[in-house]
Amino acid sequence: MAIFSYTLLGLMFIVMLAIIYFSKQRINNYETRIYGTIIITNIIGQILHLLCFVVIKYIDSIPKLLFYGVTKGYLLYLVSWGILNMVYIFLVSFLDDSNQNREEVVKNGRLLGLIGIIISFSIILLLPISYSNSIEGMYTYGPSVDSVYIISIVIVISCITMIFAKFNKDKIKKYIPIFLFIIIGSLTMLVQRIHPELLLITFVETFVTFLMYFTIENPDVRLIEQLEIAKEQADKANNAKTDFLSNMSHEIRTPLNAIVGFSENLKDENIPESARENVEDIIMASNNLLDIVNGILDISKIEANKLEIINKEYDIKSMIDELIALTKARLGEKPIDFKVNIDPSIPKVLYGDNIRLKQIILNLLTNAAKYTKEGYILFTMSSVIKDDICRLIISVEDSGIGIKQENINKLFSKFERLGVEKEITIEGTGLGLAITKKLVDLMNGKIVVQSVYGRGSKFTIALDQKIVLGKEDVKEETPQELRIIDCSSKKILIVDDNNVNLKVAMRLLRDYKINIETSDSGFDCLNKIKQGNTYDLILMDDMMPKMSGTETFHKLKEDSSFNTPVVILTANAITGMKEKYLSEGFNDYLAKPIDKLALNEVIIKFLEQK
Ligand code: ADP
Repeated sequence: MAIFSYTLLGLMFIVMLAIIYFSKQRINNYETRIYGTIIITNIIGQILHLLCFVVIKYIDSIPKLLFYGVTKGYLLYLVSWGILNMVYIFLVSFLDDSNQNREEVVKNGRLLGLIGIIISFSIILLLPISYSNSIEGMYTYGPSVDSVYIISIVIVISCITMIFAKFNKDKIKKYIPIFLFIIIGSLTMLVQRIHPELLLITFVETFVTFLMYFTIENPDVRLIEQLEIAKEQADKANNAKTDFLSNMSHEIRTPLNAIVGFSENLKDENIPESARENVEDIIMASNNLLDIVNGILDISKIEANKLEIINKEYDIKSMIDELIALTKARLGEKPIDFKVNIDPSIPKVLYGDNIRLKQIILNLLTNAAKYTKEGYILFTMSSVIKDDICRLIISVEDSGIGIKQENINKLFSKFERLGVEKEITIEGTGLGLAITKKLVDLMNGKIVVQSVYGRGSKFTIALDQKIVLGKEDVKEETPQELRIIDCSSKKILIVDDNNVNLKVAMRLLRDYKINIETSDSGFDCLNKIKQGNTYDLILMDDMMPKMSGTETFHKLKEDSSFNTPVVILTANAITGMKEKYLSEGFNDYLAKPIDKLALNEVIIKFLEQK
């Protein structure tokens, strides 16, 4: 009876293990497949073992065939469990990660198992079996049972041979349950040979199967390993993408620098009205292209978690004025009534990322202007103040084409353009709102959309900014208007390997009447300084062959008496670049295409007589 209880306990145990194992996510490889089969086989074995007690007990009242079926079925289970383990040992021993002919090894393993099964099954099924149902206990015996002992010994010897033939200490963990089985199993077999009624072998097999759970296959550890590899690969791919985009931005910005620079200059020349219109169109198209390049960069920065929110004090009034001016310029002659409603109680000086806030609002205003043919656009801004926090509530409403209800959810997905396929005249990339949403999230704000298709849309944003108390004004970073100063007594050096870029810079600086010298490489620049030439300012391109602008700058700085301000020029406008260059020691940074106003600020900062 005790044996019966052990077997029942073993069955419950292995069923629990099976539930845990099969309910977990697993990697599908030969180990997991064999282990799954071992568990199932073990459950079948436990059930057959229990049935053996029943059929022997009621031998007189059941058909003989049932007796043979159950008892021989149990013997077949015993050898199958052993053969499965032998195949497992074969694969562990002969497969390693660098294995070129994995498939061949797996095929041989299968063949080994198949041959083992055919031979042992034939022997067990053909040989006779007897039973004992006496006071000493219930058990089976006879040639069929003896053959199981012999087959088991053959299996054990094969396993030991394979383990030692291909011993690999890295795999020792995987062999532990098998070693244990060889020891405990052999002892059990010996005991059973003497006391056949002590049928403990099934329980031992269940115990070994349980141990294997921790050594053959640990789904969690393996899964984490695989996830880590996948993550590493994804990170690599993402970095490669960011690098590619950064290079691409550089490549596109360099020719754009020339296009914008020359067009701006041409506009100031005395040219016929029709030509002027063309030039203005060129400038507008170039600026659109620049917006697209910037949008792609922004998205890749956001995805690589490289976009930072840079908070500082700013004047909200001048930001609003600028936004209104830009929108009016964008609307041009369109029959649209642009209404503005700004709450006068909004504090003047706030603390936050004004550049990104401006980008968010400008995106909404630009969209309203793009997707509205006629009617109105209403731009409102109000505030709710609590302690030193000002919650800005900004909304942009239009009477434009509107958005279908089913498309509202897709609105913030990147590259998603809704229902504008037919309106190919409306330019766009589908990036604007994706960036807007990400920026609002980064600033811990909220954005909501209300829209009626065909009637118009309303985008509302709420986000908190800190109030800077006691300040009525902040210094504007970029002057709103050009202030050309006379620099005829000043001398500057422009270093750039690209001839067209040199020309653009010279044209942009023409009105300041500066004495300009140029240099086409870092070496040439170093030579000029070594020969004793002095300048009031150096504009240095960074991406130059052989010696970069940064390298040239550090070489110049090796001479402690060198104190000419150096401004770096770069087409690499990825976030953090300005900070990077300033930390290298450069006095300022100008992104290409060079913005006239930003250049003006640099000139005033470094060349104005104080
Ligand atoms: P883009 O304007 O470059 O296509 P956005 O991300 O800014 O990309 O906008 C995504 C889509 O949302 C647009 O293509 C347009 O279909 C729709 N959309 C955005 N704003 C409006 C608006 N004010 N009115 C109607 N549709 C809009």
